[in-house]
Amino acid sequence: MTATRVLVLNSGSSSVKYQLLDMRDGSRLATGLVERIGEQSSRLKHTPLTGGGESRERTEPIADHDAALKAVAAELAKDGLGLDSPELAAIGHRVVHGGKHFTEPTVIDDTVLAEIERLIPVAPLHNPANLTGIRTAQALRPDLPQVAVFDTAFHTTMPESAARYAIDVETADRHRIRRYGFHGTSHAYVSRATAELLGKDPSEVNVIVLHLGNGASASAVRGGRCVDTSMGLTPLEGLVMGTRSGDMDPAVIFHLARVGEMSIAEIDTLLNKKSGLIGLCGDNDMREIRRRIDEGDERAQLAFDIYIHRLKKYIGAYYAVLGKVDAIAFTAGVGENAAPVREAAVAGLEQLGLAVDAELNAVRGDGPRLISPAGARVAVAVVPTDEELEIATQTWATAG
Ligand code: ADP
Repeated sequence: MTATRVLVLNSGSSSVKYQLLDMRDGSRLATGLVERIGEQSSRLKHTPLTGGGESRERTEPIADHDAALKAVAAELAKDGLGLDSPELAAIGHRVVHGGKHFTEPTVIDDTVLAEIERLIPVAPLHNPANLTGIRTAQALRPDLPQVAVFDTAFHTTMPESAARYAIDVETADRHRIRRYGFHGTSHAYVSRATAELLGKDPSEVNVIVLHLGNGASASAVRGGRCVDTSMGLTPLEGLVMGTRSGDMDPAVIFHLARVGEMSIAEIDTLLNKKSGLIGLCGDNDMREIRRRIDEGDERAQLAFDIYIHRLKKYIGAYYAVLGKVDAIAFTAGVGENAAPVREAAVAGLEQLGLAVDAELNAVRGDGPRLISPAGARVAVAVVPTDEELEIATQTWATAG
């Protein structure tokens, strides 16, 4: 029997998301998630996607990642998709931080594990959880290739002029401070899919990708290679996000510490969890914000305006970085669904060849689609992201 299945694991500090794919055609066999690991009310939701099975959901204590993965394996086994199956070819892990070192998806061995561990100081929340997921999966199937697919890898092609902060070089190097960028799997997938939508090879086009989910980032992609991205040392930099401030004068932090008498931990929480849209208007869901705007809510309107202002600044900046732009691609939860965001982001940019067609923009759809008027100088597109498929594809190609 040929092994054609890849399991994709995205391990967070208290959650595991997973998808099982068949790489003969990229189809999903099952998907699911375990949440609140380590609590009494852990929840497992499993959805088989073959054979017309229904989603199964249950709440019970799941002590740790090991127990979580075993519970997932048991669910998969019920659908005849057990992880002990000879059809499973590899396991692909989303790893948030690969530093400068990991420019490609990498088969995991002890050296790779040690390097991911060495990067914990720059990714204190994410890399430990990713490591736990990897170790757990290794214990379950030590014979299988396990591949790390890094969120930072696509951005390692950024030139030094974009990747370095203008701070003392020795201090920066000692502490590995530079702009790494995140959401790389999505930016890679979407920039390629955009080229495909235009009927071109990725090497022939320059694309600005706007990944607007709860976390949000922009990237400038020249001929298939990332030349700039809006997230930096951490995912805090750049666009206004659901709960993160994005760009800000760094002196705000000194001010909060000195005048506001806040601790570093408090400021960290404020800027990462209580800022952005939620800090501005109390909601981080764009649907709710639009609903409030329709009712005349001024705070929601201001939050939306600040969000759009920042987005527009990045479109302009990346236009300048690239010199020539063939397409702008909107993706992720907000980018794929919120027509008013897309419309407002390019409003008034006709001089740059940018416009959206109101009718095309209003149409809902699943696949990649153009929303710019026919004959527009720059294509504006909605390109749904698929990070799991990209991780599975890279894992499959890397595991051999
Ligand atoms: P994550 O960063 O958590 O992966 P997603 O890419 O799933 O986020 O995006 C989630 C966000 O997408 C939600 O917080 C919400 O703001 C937005 N969103 C989802 N559906 C819609 C919709 N129909 N209209 C507007 N915004 C939406």
